[in-house]
Amino acid sequence: MQGDSTISEQDAAHERWMRLALEQADLAAAAGEVPVGAVLVKDGELLASGFNCPITSCDATAHAEIVALRSAAGKVANYRLPGTTLYVTIEPCTMCVGALMHARVGQLVFGAREPRAGAVSSQQQLTEQEFFNHRLSFVEGILAAECGERLQSFFRERRNRNGS
Ligand SMILES: [Zn+2]
Repeated sequence: MQGDSTISEQDAAHERWMRLALEQADLAAAAGEVPVGAVLVKDGELLASGFNCPITSCDATAHAEIVALRSAAGKVANYRLPGTTLYVTIEPCTMCVGALMHARVGQLVFGAREPRAGAVSSQQQLTEQEFFNHRLSFVEGILAAECGERLQSFFRERRNRNGS
């Protein structure tokens, strides 16, 4: 079964799922939340989706990644989600990388880096830490410009509304 999918087919699949994650990010923006969206995929099928909503849910842990994990775990009645791939528009924070580890997610795919608080490439490289007894591989940069632009335009609009 080796080599049965080319790199470009894989990239196309990553982009297709990331577009769904972007739709989730738009739902967050519409609710006045920082626009980050996530989808969890297993065996080429959508298992769950989520968007960032700490304000509306009064829950500091309601990041897109965790909302998606919670939803998926409820569906399969298991907190462990092996063999899944989590797509998220923005590089995860420390809390979310921890949650992905605890949930035994197999792969992480994210769009844009988060230079201030990203815990995968930017500020920390948590997936490389030896103390986790789980390995999480990751791919970054899928639709990075679009993912980052969602965030930038959100903060730009908010600044314009609050300022002047
Ligand atoms: Zn997070």
